[in-house]
Amino acid sequence: MKRFILFFLAVSISLPLLAQRNRIDIPDLQGYLTLQCDFHLHTVFSDGTVWPAVRVDEARNEGLDAISITDHLESRRQLSEIERMSGLSLKTISHNISYDIAKPRADQSGLILIRGTEITRSMPPGHCNAIFISNADEIEKPDYMDAFRVAKAQGAFIFFNHPGFPIPPQQSDTAMWWPIHTQLLKQGMIHGIEVVNDHNYSLEAHRWCLDNNLTMMGTTDAHGPRPPFGHGVHRTMNFIFAKERSAEAIREALFERRTAVYWNENVIGEEKYLMELFKNALDWDMRKNGNAVTVTVRNKSDLTFRLKKTSQGPGILHYRDDSIARFIIPPKGSFRFIVRLLDDKQNCDLNFVVDNFLVQPNEGMNFTLNVK
Ligand SMILES: [Zn+2]
Ligand SMILES: [Zn+2]
Repeated sequence: MKRFILFFLAVSISLPLLAQRNRIDIPDLQGYLTLQCDFHLHTVFSDGTVWPAVRVDEARNEGLDAISITDHLESRRQLSEIERMSGLSLKTISHNISYDIAKPRADQSGLILIRGTEITRSMPPGHCNAIFISNADEIEKPDYMDAFRVAKAQGAFIFFNHPGFPIPPQQSDTAMWWPIHTQLLKQGMIHGIEVVNDHNYSLEAHRWCLDNNLTMMGTTDAHGPRPPFGHGVHRTMNFIFAKERSAEAIREALFERRTAVYWNENVIGEEKYLMELFKNALDWDMRKNGNAVTVTVRNKSDLTFRLKKTSQGPGILHYRDDSIARFIIPPKGSFRFIVRLLDDKQNCDLNFVVDNFLVQPNEGMNFTLNVK
């Protein structure tokens, strides 16, 4: 009986170039631009510590396409502080003010600014962002159901924020889906859920999105200033697969669930989009010499790919070298390995899981490479 050998040789890796640029390089999809967006931000007009225009500057520094400032309707801590210290009454300041202040600067710098607000209630229903609204003041209602109704009537895209937020009166022990969420869903008043809020990934939110056909969201929920960009780090963000770079195209993509969440090295989303990102980011070069095939994979993007071998079909081949059980294709980098085919084989399948491309809660995406 013949013995089959597959082994991996030299690994060549080049350093990420992310540090030199101010936009993360992410491939577009067939027919769609991949826009980089953050739809959950606070300013001094709720409980944040930065001026609205600073949110625009930060986003431009990081090369984002669109943001939404979503100051809380119900918590205006900084204004209360000024009232307390000055004796002035600031209650009449409109909830639209953060958008209005930021808008001219956004226009100047080509950033798409989307009007938004955070409906901030204890659980249930918890905190929800309404974006693509026309007037935040009208959404401030004593009864939260009224607030949701008005937001919906304004054409808002509404998403459930940080469902596993650990601090009471949010959910202090577990992330739960309450009957009120089912009611909101049935009435078309929840369209998405934050699968990642800042650096907190919610397995429950991921599951709920898949089960209920809800849009996967990833945001920073920044209250303070963003740390300096350019050291190979990026904020948690949404990729929006939009027909063009415009607010209306972003809205359409959100309602059609054409999003992914980018959090650290992880990309979370529907498999069809993640697979296309994966394929568009990588070039596979194969050179055959006798029964040895040298495979070089080059990463054209700033994404990282963490691949892990999975079980092989019986009787085809198996791995001999466990040192390549896992390998990384770094941003703008490459990885090379050699596969030795059976003497009588022209090609073979290699099966991997892309560990950091999550298509199910905590589950990577499978990928098969035909080596020939
Ligand atoms: Zn807040
Ligand atoms: Zn919140």
